[in-house]
Parts: sequence; C-alpha cells; structure tokens
Amino acid sequence: MKVHVDPELCCGCGPCVDVCPEAFELNEEGIAVVRMDDVPEELYEACMEAAEDCPTAAIAIEE
Ligand code: SF4
Repeated sequence: MKVHVDPELCCGCGPCVDVCPEAFELNEEGIAVVRMDDVPEELYEACMEAAEDCPTAAIAIEE
C-alpha cells in the first residue's frame, strides 16, 4: 500500500506520528513524511486512523 503526505497541507502537528510511528515521522522541517515506499498491510488500520485524525486531510492512502 502507498501512503502519501501532502507537504502543502501538512502543518506538522504530529498526531500521525503518535498513531503510527512505524509509518510516519516528522522531517527536519517539521513536516510529516512517510518512512517507507511500500507500507505493509498490517499498518493499514493505523494509517487509516492517522488519515482520519489529520486535521488538514494531508494523508492519502492508495490501496
Ligand atoms: S496529522 Fe496531518 S497535518 Fe498533522 S503532522 Fe500528520 S500529516 Fe501533518
């Protein structure tokens, strides 16, 4: 599965990192990035929760 963060929308608030630190981290500019090209399916639920919790709808999941 592919997961994307739109850097234009991300405000760096951080809940995605709290919900799924395996998939998300904040870069040196304080913007969330996805830590891997191909995110394993076992992280799907956590990534969905991160996307739903994201206040700016910056996270997109491509199944
Ligand atoms: S929750 Fe959304 S806006 Fe906040 S850091 Fe994560 S991707 Fe960026």
